[in-house]
Amino acid sequence: RKFVYDFTEGNKDLKDLLGGKGANLAEMTNLGLPVPPGFTITAEACRHYLEHGSLPDGLADEVNRHLAALESAMGKKLGQSDDPLLVSVRSGAKFSMPGMMETVLNVGLNDESVHGLASQAGDERFAWDSYRRLIQMFGKTVMDIDGDLFEDAVEDVKRARGSDDDGDLTAGDLRELVDRFKVIVREKAGREFPTDPREQMDLAVEAVFDSWNAPRAILYRRQERIPVDLGTAVNICSMVFGNMGLDSGTGVAFTRDPASGQQGIYGDYLQNAQGEDVVAGIRNTVPLKELERIDKASYDRLLEIMETLENHYRDMCDIEFTIERGKLWMLQTRVGKRTAGAAFRIACQLLDQGLIDLDEAARRVTGDQLAQLMFPRFTDRVDGVKKITKGMNASPGAAVGKAVFTSERAVELAGRGEEVILVRRETNPDDLAGMVAARGVLTSRGGKTSHAAVVARGMGKTCVCGAEELDVDVKGGHFTAPGGVTVREGDVISIDGSSGDVYLGEVAVEDSPVVRYFEGQLPVGDGDDLVKAVHRVMEHADARAALKVRANADNPEDSARARRFGAAGIGLCRTEHMFLGDRRQLVEELILAEDDDERQAALDALEPHQKSDFEGIFEAMDGLPVTIRLIDPPLHEFLPDITELSVRVALAGDEADAKDRRLLEAVNRLHEQNPMLGLRGVRLGLVIPGLFGMQVRAIAEAAAARRRAGGDPRPEIMIPLVGAVQELEAVRDEARGILAAVRESSGVDVPALIGTMIELPRAALTAGQIAEAAEFFSFGTNDLTQTTWGFSRDDVEAAFFSRYLELGIFGVSPFETLDREGVGRLVRIAAEEGRRARPGLKLGICGEHGGDPDSVHFCHEVGLDYVSCSPFRIPVARLEAGRAAI
Ligand code: PEP
Ligand code: MG
Repeated sequence: RKFVYDFTEGNKDLKDLLGGKGANLAEMTNLGLPVPPGFTITAEACRHYLEHGSLPDGLADEVNRHLAALESAMGKKLGQSDDPLLVSVRSGAKFSMPGMMETVLNVGLNDESVHGLASQAGDERFAWDSYRRLIQMFGKTVMDIDGDLFEDAVEDVKRARGSDDDGDLTAGDLRELVDRFKVIVREKAGREFPTDPREQMDLAVEAVFDSWNAPRAILYRRQERIPVDLGTAVNICSMVFGNMGLDSGTGVAFTRDPASGQQGIYGDYLQNAQGEDVVAGIRNTVPLKELERIDKASYDRLLEIMETLENHYRDMCDIEFTIERGKLWMLQTRVGKRTAGAAFRIACQLLDQGLIDLDEAARRVTGDQLAQLMFPRFTDRVDGVKKITKGMNASPGAAVGKAVFTSERAVELAGRGEEVILVRRETNPDDLAGMVAARGVLTSRGGKTSHAAVVARGMGKTCVCGAEELDVDVKGGHFTAPGGVTVREGDVISIDGSSGDVYLGEVAVEDSPVVRYFEGQLPVGDGDDLVKAVHRVMEHADARAALKVRANADNPEDSARARRFGAAGIGLCRTEHMFLGDRRQLVEELILAEDDDERQAALDALEPHQKSDFEGIFEAMDGLPVTIRLIDPPLHEFLPDITELSVRVALAGDEADAKDRRLLEAVNRLHEQNPMLGLRGVRLGLVIPGLFGMQVRAIAEAAAARRRAGGDPRPEIMIPLVGAVQELEAVRDEARGILAAVRESSGVDVPALIGTMIELPRAALTAGQIAEAAEFFSFGTNDLTQTTWGFSRDDVEAAFFSRYLELGIFGVSPFETLDREGVGRLVRIAAEEGRRARPGLKLGICGEHGGDPDSVHFCHEVGLDYVSCSPFRIPVARLEAGRAAI
């Protein structure tokens, strides 16, 4: 087994092994771009280390060989005292986790080699600065020492010098810092700072491996749904220096604007600085365009390389580079993270440039991104609220909430259900929990590539960064803005991540143009390039999709909207939703009925309401299938709360209302310990005579009425919670009788399929039998998940899922994304056995999973005919149905 790859040995397709950074460094090396030589230790070695607590056999030998090769290529040895080779030790996992894991720079410096570096560079100050950075980073990362101790020491020395700029520190000051840092290490770590270069390197490698399991990395992975067991590769790269004077510097660049997707020069540059200074947003950078003035040759070369990379990767790339005394070096590239809008725009730009085809364009965008574009944004009119400043539009969207100044407060208030905006000078990886909890993030420092911007974009969270006019006082719990505005914790602010505007007060929000386009209110020609891009990709997805997309809707308005959003019918009309509001009374009477006559009277009162509901829906979905599910939930859901009612009756004593007494008696009679497993679904239909029959008659008569009015109604009648074919047969036979009777009496023949939901494991396991009696199946994966796992769908998410997620028992709630192995296996079995018994059996899904991207792909793989989801998710499901087929 090979654990170490030289940069010349890898390539971009080896991300599993070399991580994103290592694979792309190798790719750039092979493209002939200026990458400092180095090698990568594989993620496999990391996995072995994390699992066994020790490095795999043979790794040390391989590292020796590669280090020797690197030393001979560079003509100097690691830490060589008169002319040291220095290396960086950087993490790099398969999926980018910005700032989440560790990096150590300048490895190889010690009390001797610092002099060698000084004389080689001709710069004492630079050498001592590099050395103190090594001890600082190494102390924090490898030896686990609180980073503030080092920062405080720097502040001390600066104060003594009467300056607040690191740049004013002299070689002597920095040398003093080295001494102080060594004392900190000795006191806090209980050992000396290791001066042996090779020991430094080995310890740094292990620290990078360990950082895979740092709390913030774990949290980030959970957020981004990155698997927990991948491990990280480690890149050992010969150092180049951006801090060797004004002809040196370091920067980041994007080949297109990651916020909007527009082509142009986007990036930040920092003169005389080393790596992390830019990404951390610690010092204010200049726009990349300025580099043209500072160092034209390097600037031209950089643009040339950016074009090479875009054409090679056929995608927008982001880049980290360093200029060492006028020589440009590439330190990293990858396909860049981008906002949802930029993803659609860039895909279509590349399509127009002929770099990718339509299939690839659809692959480059996701349903989650489309969902983000459907979020509301601020209205143009912002009467009565004051715009207090403008920052950079780092991650789009509109967020309104109370200002909070620490991650802890954000988490605390959000936990109480409050909406908050996290306001910081700049964020760092420790702020992650607060960023997750907040509606949006506002910072006063740092550019579009700062930590806040990168992480917020990744999370799809609204972010305005670098609002430099703001003076943020975290300790004081307030910030000030121009014009004497002071905003304290708890004051409501609004931030616009698309424009960068910041308002004091609450700004109203409006629908996104993408939603207006789907609604048919914004013709494609009138839309901006985003709407055009969405339109193009959606057309292609629809053309490719094998799955149809239907809606879960139970009123004419939702049905009409679903249709505008592209629904191919209704996959689930929950009839119990029609019994709420005023009609609850009628259901109450049905339940309280003491004899057949009373029951019939109650049913007769309900029937016209049902009929007119169905007519409205058939009209909205004219010509398209409408699956109507007969009443499903336990009846007591329609009755008053048992405790409240008991108290009322008890307090009234002898005076208690006769109706209340009867109600209480019914509530007690119908009370169940496990209502979800009780009298509901098909069981209700079998136990309460006439209930299902009334519904079927209302469906048939509504359909007949629509047909007479010239419409084309296509009803499908669906029986819920069936566990045995016998249940289905009984209600099916009754339903057929009623359909025939209505056909007879109305003289109109509207065919209606009769099918069932598959919501119980027994139904899935006996699907072959059930299919004999069912003309279609619809997987009710909410209940199927509940009954397969034995998880109460109403309780567990709040009760203990967060702990389960923390423990990694699953990476995402099985109520959100279909559990392929368990629930999915039942779906497969039922689909196969159902279709074997009844070839061509129509199959759909109507649980919440029908609008979840990963689950849509699963449904495609299993060969279902359609997914059904809430109207707002329909475009997402259409896009994913198309992507699944590509
Ligand atoms: C289901 O169980 O997946 C389903 C769609 O039905 P309901 O959510 O109404 O129980
Ligand atoms: Mg159900």
